[in-house]
Amino acid sequence: FPSRLPNVGTTIFTVMSALAAEHQAVNLGQGFPDFDCDPKLVDSVSTAMRQGLNQYPPMPGVAPLREAVASKIETLYGRTYNATTEITVTAGATQAILTAVLCCTGPGDEVIVLEPCYDSYVPNIELTGAKVVAVPLTPGSFRPDFDKIAAALSPKTRAIIINSPHNPSGTVWSPADMQRLEDLLAPTNVLLISDEVYEHMVYAPLRHESAARYPGLAARAFIVSSFGKTYHVTGWKIGYVAAPAHLMAEFRKVHQFNVFTVNTPMQQGLATYMQDPRPYLDLPAFYGAKRDLFRKGLEKTRFRLLPCEGTYFQCVSIDNLAIAERDLPEGEFCQWLTREVGVAAIPLSAFYRDGFDQKVIRFCFAKKEETLEAAMGRLAKL
Ligand code: PMP
Ligand code: GLN
Repeated sequence: FPSRLPNVGTTIFTVMSALAAEHQAVNLGQGFPDFDCDPKLVDSVSTAMRQGLNQYPPMPGVAPLREAVASKIETLYGRTYNATTEITVTAGATQAILTAVLCCTGPGDEVIVLEPCYDSYVPNIELTGAKVVAVPLTPGSFRPDFDKIAAALSPKTRAIIINSPHNPSGTVWSPADMQRLEDLLAPTNVLLISDEVYEHMVYAPLRHESAARYPGLAARAFIVSSFGKTYHVTGWKIGYVAAPAHLMAEFRKVHQFNVFTVNTPMQQGLATYMQDPRPYLDLPAFYGAKRDLFRKGLEKTRFRLLPCEGTYFQCVSIDNLAIAERDLPEGEFCQWLTREVGVAAIPLSAFYRDGFDQKVIRFCFAKKEETLEAAMGRLAKL
């Protein structure tokens, strides 16, 4: 039968993690921590299981978790979401983004993405029959180019997907960026899908500019986050969406026939654990130290470091390496690096529809110090 996604293969994260395992490489490719989460969080979930909270929760999620999320957003970003009608717990950010795209777009619509972008956005849009309009971020700096975004808007534009802090580049949108987007969208009905999964990984002196802070954006936004990133539990696949009630009503129509709901004990465990804000407030210091350690190590090599303002990703250019392999396409370079040097990375070309090759690769530094030391030891010769 005709493929719904003819251009899609296996994701780069699956491919590179398999290659890393095959060659016993240090895996700095796929983004996930190699250390465990807080045992208190595991205790909270196991308590919920022992209390018998093992049947279906309400479709939008357990009330205490929705309330904890609403309260966090209000404290951090100053906007009140109604926990009953405006917050939904999802099976990770991936399901949240697909559901948001599905509930608002269809054939004849256009959806703007800013490339490089997370690899699920484009196939998500294509599945709805809508057209992907890819606008490049500024080459080199990866900052939004509002003239290009303005030029991409059309009467058919249904939504735009943004992502700050940004995977893969590590850039963080400024207040001026958010205001420009707010002004640009003001005369339109364009919806906003704001992927904020790295909201708690922004390094000083910057702060996270959630769409929730900007009234004109919040009124049209599905704001997406992921507990997987914030609490070092990427394998739990649990996140949430915040949106105004009229948008959330449409989101839930799709959500209820997609996963219906998300597992009860983890929701309850997270609700208890979220009562203490320190774990997410401490995250910039925790990951900032890893970022600084890793950058210091790479400064001794010929890799050219790009800025890292947020996320747990460090991008480097390979164009200054003094080896013939620097001329390989990024994807092949990453395969070579995994096989021959023993460190796995992700090529930025994987985040572009056309595989644009700019000689930049991404390392994930959400790793134990000893893992980062091992990787830096291997990379030291380059
Ligand atoms: N968006 C971005 C930008 C991501 O980096 C990720 C995680 N890889 C996701 C969405 C998906 O998050 P989750 O694992 O919660 O589905
Ligand atoms: N978000 C993670 C990354 O960018 C990986 C997620 C996945 O494996 N699909 O590395």
